[in-house]
Amino acid sequence: MTETDTQRPMAIVTGGSRGIGRACAVQLATDGYDVAFCYRSGNDAAAETEKLIREQGAQVYHAPCDVADYAAVQAFIKDAKAALGPVSVLVNSAGIVRDNPMVLMPHEDWQAVIDTNLNGTFNFCRSIVFDFMKRKEGVIVNMSSISGVYGHATQSNYSASKAGIQGMSASLAKEVAGYGIRVNVVAPGFIETDMTEALPEKIRAEALKSIPMKRYGGADEVAYLVSFLVSDRAKYITGEVIEVDGGVSL
Ligand code: NAP
Repeated sequence: MTETDTQRPMAIVTGGSRGIGRACAVQLATDGYDVAFCYRSGNDAAAETEKLIREQGAQVYHAPCDVADYAAVQAFIKDAKAALGPVSVLVNSAGIVRDNPMVLMPHEDWQAVIDTNLNGTFNFCRSIVFDFMKRKEGVIVNMSSISGVYGHATQSNYSASKAGIQGMSASLAKEVAGYGIRVNVVAPGFIETDMTEALPEKIRAEALKSIPMKRYGGADEVAYLVSFLVSDRAKYITGEVIEVDGGVSL
């Protein structure tokens, strides 16, 4: 899919076909961005996200792209720029879980989660940041989790990947602040998406008990924070990790 003749700034959202990534993609379209998003393989979900973005009057480019594949990421960004122009905003939301206590965790589940969540976020940041530095503009939001902040039993791989995103983002924020580029991290709690829908009912019920607000969050409630962080209203905020979790961390 290719589109030209855009006048709106462009935002890239990874993992934009479903869940939090979709909510961010649609919110950014509402905010006035054209949106390029990638996903791994779910073409039907991507088509639905495309429709929702177009309903906001925005142009859209999307393609499957494994965030863990550096060459594929560079090709995706090149094609997105050809379709929609320069990138102003990057939201890294693509992520997976492969939960198990460490004593049972297969090495490939450790590796898959690190490759997708941490290396995938690096791949996109690394591929875009020089362009941002040359233009002296750009905003990055990387998706962590309260699991990355506090740890969570059965999630040593996931927690490590998300804590890694936080450290990487803090370092990058320091490197590029002088160029007018901001880098922040959002750490959601339990959000109603396919990722949490897949949890066993017992775990879902236990999680609910730990939330002072007594409900899971909506993906839109994460997207509102992302929308704020990429806006000029947040222009003095960089290097932060902001939790959106209904009070779980209290
Ligand atoms: P989700 O509903 O499972 O959606 C995941 C999205 O990421 C899909 O678009 C998926 O595409 C894409 N994706 C997965 N692996 C990919 C890969 N290798 N390359 C490209 N795209 C890939 O997940 P979610 O709940 O929205 O989570 C979004 C982000 O928020 C993740 O980083 C997650 O860790 C974080 N988070 C979620 C929660 C929560 O409670 N839901 C809490 C804290 C943090 P396909 O459908 O094509 O596979």
